[in-house]
Amino acid sequence: MEDIFEKSALNPYMTELCQSMSAIRRMDQIATEMAKTHGDHAIHNFSIGNPRILPPEEYNKIMVDTINDKSFFLPHGYAPNTGDKEGREAIAELFSKLQEVKVTYENVLLSSGCAGAINVFLRTVLSVRDEVILFSPYFLEYPYYIENYHGTSVYCDTHFEEGWQINRERFEKCFTANTRVVIINSPHNPTGIVYTVETIKMISEVCEKYMKKYGRTIWLLSDDVYCRVIRPGHKAHQIFKYYKFSCIAYSISKDLSLPGERIGALVMNPAIQLCERNIHALSMSNEFLAVYPPNRLHMRALPKLLKYTVDLTVYDKSQEIVEETLKKLKIEYIQPEGAFYIFPKLPDGIDDIKFCELLAKNFVVTVPGSAFGTKGFYRLSFCKGPEDIKKGMEQFEAVYNSVIEQLKKEQAK
Ligand code: PLP
Repeated sequence: MEDIFEKSALNPYMTELCQSMSAIRRMDQIATEMAKTHGDHAIHNFSIGNPRILPPEEYNKIMVDTINDKSFFLPHGYAPNTGDKEGREAIAELFSKLQEVKVTYENVLLSSGCAGAINVFLRTVLSVRDEVILFSPYFLEYPYYIENYHGTSVYCDTHFEEGWQINRERFEKCFTANTRVVIINSPHNPTGIVYTVETIKMISEVCEKYMKKYGRTIWLLSDDVYCRVIRPGHKAHQIFKYYKFSCIAYSISKDLSLPGERIGALVMNPAIQLCERNIHALSMSNEFLAVYPPNRLHMRALPKLLKYTVDLTVYDKSQEIVEETLKKLKIEYIQPEGAFYIFPKLPDGIDDIKFCELLAKNFVVTVPGSAFGTKGFYRLSFCKGPEDIKKGMEQFEAVYNSVIEQLKKEQAK
């Protein structure tokens, strides 16, 4: 007999989540099945955002020196809930440069990766049913983070034809008396674009307008996890100069290839007068969500680590290879200016989930645009070295046209 207590052991929300299989999990499942039959080497995986290039050369020495540094009292002890002062200072110095606005350690909180930082922020500012505006395509975990604090996601489409920049008219339609946060991400996952100064100024003006209209603070949270993963000749966007109630989420996951070490930060605009109170509130969320910076040694090494990034030319080369293949196949895309993703367009009428499924069965794993809230596209991640990317793109080139033809025939039936 079925045990009803087994079935009802989880809350209804998690029970439902477990049953629904995301597009990414489906692609993963196909890739795993294919690898079982044909071997791991046969699979060209472009689906992951887990950097496959090593941290900077200096990394090992910095960490050994940190372990041997006898000046640390209790080197593995609990950290303050805000994170160590030296690490906060190092982040403040980095963002003073990037934002061209003086930031001090008092404006900085260290947390568990960029994801932890975003959760801490939302936990601190959202009330039940507050609305958070997201731009589709969006980083697919945002809606789940918002649900964690019983907020509501409101989706604003961005369009390929507009270079994935934000359209003012569509943006303004998203505001209501419940709007509390607008989340932007640039360089952007999954498109790789960087918001222009005009876009940032427009977002700031619109947030200001609705903050005054509804008489409540509207926060602009900028997910800058890729802010130093930038192609030559491009510059990450700045927000502090343009909008007072702004906060940046950052981590060393991508620019230093250290995602497993879970060091992240929130940097609050120093123009906010109650910044100290706000950082104190964020530090309590850090504590009660239990996501305070978990890795004391990396936190202590931050002042030295942040002087470096991974060898970014690797991503420049990998992107070049991907673009060459796309051009050969006459596939439309917007050229990425940062991060390590590209979001090509499918021919009209081709279903992105079916396309990615069939492509995975042909040994090339990608993620359908639907997973990011935008149908008719797919994400290719090139966070690997050029040699791996070249092999994968050769396979992509060999199968792309036949996959499209097969889907067209199936759809015509
Ligand atoms: N934000 C974006 C846009 C991401 O792509 C990722 C990870 O891929 C994260 C946040 C999470 O970063 P972290 O691993 O530092 O928590």
